[in-house]
Amino acid sequence: MMPGTSPTVAYVGLGSNLDDPIAQVRSALRELASLPQTQLAHASALYRSPPLGPANQPDYINAVAELHTTLSPVALLEALQNIEQAHGRDRHGEHWGPRTLDLDVLLYGQTILDGPRLRVPHPGLAARAFVLIPLAEIAPALQVPAHGPLSGLLAGLDAAGTERL
Ligand code: AMP
Repeated sequence: MMPGTSPTVAYVGLGSNLDDPIAQVRSALRELASLPQTQLAHASALYRSPPLGPANQPDYINAVAELHTTLSPVALLEALQNIEQAHGRDRHGEHWGPRTLDLDVLLYGQTILDGPRLRVPHPGLAARAFVLIPLAEIAPALQVPAHGPLSGLLAGLDAAGTERL
């Protein structure tokens, strides 16, 4: 942690549905814990959820992590993209394989950003059970910028299909 700079509480969403998703998410949590200027404060349980969009793909494994970080929002995004790329690598060839890990900046303190690279709160956050349910596990009293209490978002949610492992 950088001396003299107070950390921001940021939430990161993790998801995988390829190449042993449970192991992907577990190792991504370890990698989040070793990011510079960052502490992994809390990690939710792992959840299994049906895929968004085409149904002919495997279920997802999801989790949410709470980070305390002095990385800027964009530096955090870049760090997450580096982890994603490392997980997408095809170890048997020269090419980058299919992406096996999705990491999203869900929230960065009370900051609202609407830039070309980074939108915070994450645009999908408010409607996605596989984000809101693990988020509520680790931060039940959270106030979501531009949306209000997390409990209100959860009340309007179809939670069916999101299963805690
Ligand atoms: P996806 O593959 O659907 O996760 O989208 C990745 C793209 O979304 C990247 O080009 C990011 O720059 C952009 N992006 C915008 N806001 C966010 C966010 N809050 N977290 C992660 N990626 C974001």
